[in-house]
Amino acid sequence: MDVTEIRATSILTPQMVGSLAGHYTYSLNPYAGCAFRCSYCYVPKFPSARHSDYRDWGKWVEVKVNAPELIRKERALVFGSSIFFSSATDPYQYLELKYRLSRRCLKELIRYRPKKLTLHTRSHLILQDLELITQLRDVVQVGISITTDDESVCREFEPGAPAIARRLELLKGLRAAGIEVYASIAPLLPCNPERFVQLLKPYVDKVWIGSMNYPEINNRKDLLSRHADFFEPSQYEEVQKWLYDEICRGRSRKSGFKRQQDERLTNDADIQARQLSLLLTNV
Ligand code: SF4
Repeated sequence: MDVTEIRATSILTPQMVGSLAGHYTYSLNPYAGCAFRCSYCYVPKFPSARHSDYRDWGKWVEVKVNAPELIRKERALVFGSSIFFSSATDPYQYLELKYRLSRRCLKELIRYRPKKLTLHTRSHLILQDLELITQLRDVVQVGISITTDDESVCREFEPGAPAIARRLELLKGLRAAGIEVYASIAPLLPCNPERFVQLLKPYVDKVWIGSMNYPEINNRKDLLSRHADFFEPSQYEEVQKWLYDEICRGRSRKSGFKRQQDERLTNDADIQARQLSLLLTNV
């Protein structure tokens, strides 16, 4: 892993276009790159000058050592804003144990009070900051990515990320602390749908269900081929809808699901995937 300490020029990235636009004012990424190495990660779709080859994704991380300092500098932007933390890295990847950048950024956000803050991670390390997150309870929600119920599938697609059991413990711990949580099933990976619902339903108030997009930058096209039956567009959409219905069953909904995008993509292995996202709010 190539780890580089850098000094960023800004830390709050305005969200004018893309899926966060309209929902969030800024994204906040204390790191660039991600050691969790998810093979489907969409971030390499938007390459930087220093890291332009998607095949290198997961091999490098840049540590924005001045991130907390930049929040102080940009504090006028924080108050009353909506911040997604993080959109292009995992803020609680294991380098956080060394740098504690996300922790220090949280301390700054507590001081300057955004109106809405979403923390998004696959990592149980976030629980080490529970005391800080609790101080933001009135504005914070935490999204935990859990993309399958099958640990062997998880190891293949997300080789560097924490185990599913760890993530479930995380959902449980946050709920027990009174923090609003949602599960992000994005992208939905091959799974046993019945068992997946049983795993998640006790712990989630909201769920985001996303698709396997951008096959052209996927680092494990062999996995897409091997699981082609599961990703077959009409079947894939059926499973997504079924999961949605089952997880929501018996709960009141302030709003239903909204189809965000629906377009066909073709990858090198000639696998088609329907781009479909189901956004479930206030389940
Ligand atoms: S944890 Fe998120 S940012 Fe990191 S590789 Fe996986 S999808 Fe990409």
